[in-house]
Amino acid sequence: MAKSINKKLFNKAQQYLVGGVDSPVRAFGYVGGDPLLIRRGQGSLVFDYDQRAYIDYVLSWGALILGHAHPLVVRDVKQALSHGFSFGTTNAQEIALAKVIHDAIPAVQKLRFVNSGSEAVMGALRLARGFTGRNKIVKFAHSYHGHADYLLANAGSGLATLSLPASKGVPRHYLADTIVAPLGDKTYLTRIFRKYKNAIAAVIIEPAGGNYGVIPPDLDFLRFLRKITRRHGALLVADEVITGFRIHYGSLLASYGITADLLCLGKIIGGGLPVGAFGGHASIMDHLAPVGPVYQASTFSGNPVVMQAGLSTLTVLKRLQARYSRLAQLTEYLANAIDEQARLQAIELTATSFGSMFSVQLKKQKQFAGFYRYLLAHGVYFAPSAFEANFLSFAHTDHDVEKTIKLAVSAFSSSALR
Ligand SMILES: *Cc1c(COP(=O)(O)O)cnc(C)c1O
Repeated sequence: MAKSINKKLFNKAQQYLVGGVDSPVRAFGYVGGDPLLIRRGQGSLVFDYDQRAYIDYVLSWGALILGHAHPLVVRDVKQALSHGFSFGTTNAQEIALAKVIHDAIPAVQKLRFVNSGSEAVMGALRLARGFTGRNKIVKFAHSYHGHADYLLANAGSGLATLSLPASKGVPRHYLADTIVAPLGDKTYLTRIFRKYKNAIAAVIIEPAGGNYGVIPPDLDFLRFLRKITRRHGALLVADEVITGFRIHYGSLLASYGITADLLCLGKIIGGGLPVGAFGGHASIMDHLAPVGPVYQASTFSGNPVVMQAGLSTLTVLKRLQARYSRLAQLTEYLANAIDEQARLQAIELTATSFGSMFSVQLKKQKQFAGFYRYLLAHGVYFAPSAFEANFLSFAHTDHDVEKTIKLAVSAFSSSALR
């Protein structure tokens, strides 16, 4: 057999890129084996450099809810490109996308576009601090809010202890104002707010967890957070970088009638190009420069090509609004089938789904790796870690899902999990 081009490319990648990648999870450290290098995508499929096809449940880590290379988005982006790539001024696409987001999420009266979800969170939290005049940020264990130093934190051993850096290179004192709380623990939150009375600027939460397996929302806890933050003059910041426009056309939290003070978006709203945004009530947002004293800036923010990709994606999505529930059903069907089939074979596996997100957990990492590599070898691309969420897109078909279930079943009866 001819040597794999994929393998050759990855060897070369390791020579020039750290670990052969630009983001750690892509290196397949959790599952082992050669990572997938993708050359192109179409609909629900991606193709590697050896021309092998895979049903894609990663979808650029959740960004591609329409699947790959949606024809209308491709057409509009090409058109935008032909007019130049970047001007660093306000443009019509940017205004239009801001309006489309506002129409879908009226509580987002004003917003600021940035280039990634990480930047959206950094901007929102700086604004929360500037607006409240307070410093402390409460986040939850196992949540992911991007790569800002002060958010790369693990919980200390108790209420009294400082948070611990989750990465080398993060000075401990950067975490002096970061509090890591257990998710869902009302008593803990109540104690935190009692202890740090007028010092907490914001509580940030993923309304549904997507970075520690899929964690469906706890409505009661979300309502509690809304109340306790309001009572203490702290802001509630919803990190909807994954869930924004993924579960409904708009904000997940808002769909429950809960209004965050600041909302962070990313992924889907760029249609696959790099983007982030944060927004909220004008009375808060107007604390940002140039109107207010909180600085935030960037060379490429509001880039016309990116804005066009987002605008065209949301325009198509709006037409598909009524089909979100069908997408969620298909996802639930897939997760339930994998779960049940595993149980029939006495394999300790848990599949969890929420909306069009799902995750699969196996008892041991080794088992997950075996299961994972079996699927990959047979043309199904799941997220290469039990902690990353998988996604369906509107391009996924019943046939894709049936094929995936069949493969999972044959993985269970193969030697892959032993
Ligand atoms: C992906 C993600 C981010 C970070 O977004 P980037 O575009 O990778 O910087 C922040 N929060 C959540 C919940 C995410 O899933």
